[in-house]
Amino acid sequence: MERLFGSGRIQLVQGDITEESTDAVVNAANQSLLGGGGVDGAIHRAGGPAILAECKAIRARQGGCPAGEAVVTTGGRLPARYVIHTVGPVWTGGDRREPEILASCYRNCLRLAVEKALRSVAFPSISTGAYGYPVGEAASVALSTVATFLSKEEAAPALVRFVLFDAGTLRAYEEVLASL
Ligand code: ADP
Repeated sequence: MERLFGSGRIQLVQGDITEESTDAVVNAANQSLLGGGGVDGAIHRAGGPAILAECKAIRARQGGCPAGEAVVTTGGRLPARYVIHTVGPVWTGGDRREPEILASCYRNCLRLAVEKALRSVAFPSISTGAYGYPVGEAASVALSTVATFLSKEEAAPALVRFVLFDAGTLRAYEEVLASL
């Protein structure tokens, strides 16, 4: 499924984000930037050691990455040129600013994409794995934040693709995108 917002397209597909050849892929990282499970593990496995080396350099400079923020590294051996690492909120019931933090993840990744003049970016479903964010609510925040960014920002990437790992997550995102 896809829809246009401003001059940008939001596209939803099911798949493995490590295989994407968009200019950048987004990693659902953790604050240490030292790798983990889920998407994070898959990206480091497929992309090789150059990604972790840059993550360690960033960590040495700024001491990791707080939730809601984003940093960029090489894509190493991935088809994508860059990895944008962002740290989603851990879901603890919804009253600890989880929606605001999740929205800033998407916005900060897109800002970095604009800074680097990228034309296409692929996102996973940030926070809905190990971090426990309910998928329907995460889809709402993700899609409304990206749609608003594409509508307002002329230099936004022309394509934002959500690469969703399983059919249930794809369905949840499709329902929300259809209703925007
Ligand atoms: P978080 O810690 O932010 O919750 P996870 O990596 O645990 O991040 O999960 C986020 C989402 O990414 C989940 O829906 C998970 O199924 C999915 N996922 C896991 N591996 C991949 C992959 N290779 N490509 C795309 N999505 C993936």
